[in-house]
This record gives sequence, structure tokens and C-alpha cells, in this order.
Amino acid sequence: RAKEKGGNDYQFYTSSMDEKLIEKLSLDKDLHNAIKNEELLVYYQPKVDIYTGKIVGMEALVRWKHSQKGMISPAVFIPLAEVNGCIIHIGEWVLKTACRQNKLWQESGYEPVTVAVNISARQFQQPNFVDMVRNVLDETGLEPKYLELEITESIAVEDIEYTIGILKKLKEMNIQISLDDFGTGYSSLSYLKQFAIDNLKIDQSFIKDIIENKNDAAIASTIIAMAQNLNLNVIAEGVETKEQLEFLKKQNCDYAQGYFFSPPVTSIEFEKILKKSL
Ligand code: C2E
Ligand code: MG
Ligand code: MG
Ligand code: MG
Repeated sequence: RAKEKGGNDYQFYTSSMDEKLIEKLSLDKDLHNAIKNEELLVYYQPKVDIYTGKIVGMEALVRWKHSQKGMISPAVFIPLAEVNGCIIHIGEWVLKTACRQNKLWQESGYEPVTVAVNISARQFQQPNFVDMVRNVLDETGLEPKYLELEITESIAVEDIEYTIGILKKLKEMNIQISLDDFGTGYSSLSYLKQFAIDNLKIDQSFIKDIIENKNDAAIASTIIAMAQNLNLNVIAEGVETKEQLEFLKKQNCDYAQGYFFSPPVTSIEFEKILKKSL
């Protein structure tokens, strides 16, 4: 209690805000060295075909194993990296790591799957973004059809003409594009047909209560039906239960990702999953 700590509310709140700020500044500094110190890791989460149960892909999700603070969530450090610019370096590193890993698994004889990589706003806006992606594919030898880039609606609608141009170039290279967290952004549905996209990922917030909540069920069903009509593949994120999966199956949803199948895991653990699915 502020009063008990000397009766000065102002002092109390200021010092706790300072702590947060100091914490943020120190993370900010550490982030610059995170790649160099090999503290970043890429985890993988399977994407499953709802009808066959087969793994058709995986999403690459970055993790930061801080030397003192332990695991830090991307939800915390990606926004920091966006502001301080580290995201350019980190994003390229994640892309390269994920493509190289996917190529390695293909060379080891596992059935080829796609790897999906999240792209942040600042990365997408880099003038050399398309060249960077092309270089990574050249360097790692991964065929472009096995790469999926995930962008959010909010990134896509920031500058419509720019987005249309970039997506068209990526499409011409045979890279797949997914619209992530679909339903949470502000995009108008009319953009959907202007963007060269292949997949819609229904945000996990709609899947969470799909069984109990009629509104969420209606929203999810509507997104699935719309995707079908637009000839897009639809992926449900955050599937945690058999009931949710059964519901999605009835609605003709194509793919699912979520703890029901597996959380994101290290490359070593993911290879075990691939081995089992052979
Ligand atoms: P996202 O791309 O929408 O990724 C899905 C998030 O949902 C991941 O959180 C994943 O671990 C989590 N998830 C998967 N299945 C379930 C489930 O069944 N239940 C629940 N409750 N959660 C589930 P994560 O890994 O913490 O990543 C959070 C966000 O950080 C990602 O959301 C993405 O926006 C961003 N992110 C992660 N890696 C990268 C990256 O390499 N680059 C960029 N730019 N952003 C990244
Ligand atoms: Mg994603
Ligand atoms: Mg998402
Ligand atoms: Mg379809």
C-alpha cells in the first residue's frame, strides 16, 4: 500500500514505473547481443490436415533464452525489436534458420512440408524485403513452394498499393502467403480479393470458446465459408480440444494448429514428431 509506505502515492507509483522502464531499457540493450550470443532459438509447431491428420507444415516461432532472465516470450521482445530496429536482423535470422532447417529435414528423407515464418511490419516495409527473401532461399536451397510468409491484416492494410505489389512479387516467386490473426484487424473484406494470398489463419481468440459461445462459433463458421468461396485455405489457430477439432471438421476447415496436437517445440523434438508421422 502506498499510504503505509510513507503516505506518498506519487513516489510509490513513480518508482514502480521506473522499475518497468529500467527493465525495458536493459532488455533493449540485451536484445542487440541476443543473436551474437546465440540466445535466440526457433521453435516449431505442426500444422495438421484436419481430414487426414497428417502434418503438412510447421510454423517457426522465435524464442529468447536470456542468460539471466530465462525464456522471454516473443509477445514481449518482438514489439521491442520493432521499435529499436533489431527486428530486421532477428527476422532475417529466423527466416534463414527456418528455411535451412526445413531443407535439412527434406534432405534427411522426411516428407516435404512447408515452413511458415512470421513477418513483422517493419520488415515488410524494408525496400529490400523481397530481395532479402530471395537471397535466403538461394542460400539455403529451399524451394520457394515450401515457404509460407505470415503477415497480419494490420500490416497488409497499412499501404494497400505497396502490399499488393509486394505480395504479387512473392507470389510470382511461388512463395505462399498467409493472413495471420484473421478477424482481429481492421481490414475490409474487399482487400481480400486484391491481395495475392493463399491462406487465412483464424485467430485463436475465436477458436477458444467455439463450443460454448454461439457468437464465436458463428464467426468461425462464417470465416471458413468465406475462405472456401474465395478459394483460400483456412487454418484454425489455438485448437486445444477434440471438441473444437470436431466442430471445425464439420465446418470444412482445412487445417489446424494448437496444443491439441503439439505446442511449439525445439527442432530436436519436432524431428521426433516428423519421424513418428512417417
Ligand atoms: P502468432 O503468429 O499468431 O503465433 C501463434 C501463437 O499462439 C504462438 O505464441 C503459439 O505458441 C501460440 N499457440 C499455439 N497453439 C496454441 C494453443 O493451442 N493455445 C494457446 N493458448 N496458444 C497457442 P508465441 O510463440 O508466444 O508467439 C506470439 C506471437 O509472437 C506470434 O503470434 C507472432 O505474432 C509473434 N512471433 C513469434 N515468432 C515470431 C518471429 O519469428 N517473427 C515475428 N515478427 N513475430 C513472431
Ligand atoms: Mg503466425
Ligand atoms: Mg496468429
Ligand atoms: Mg480450400
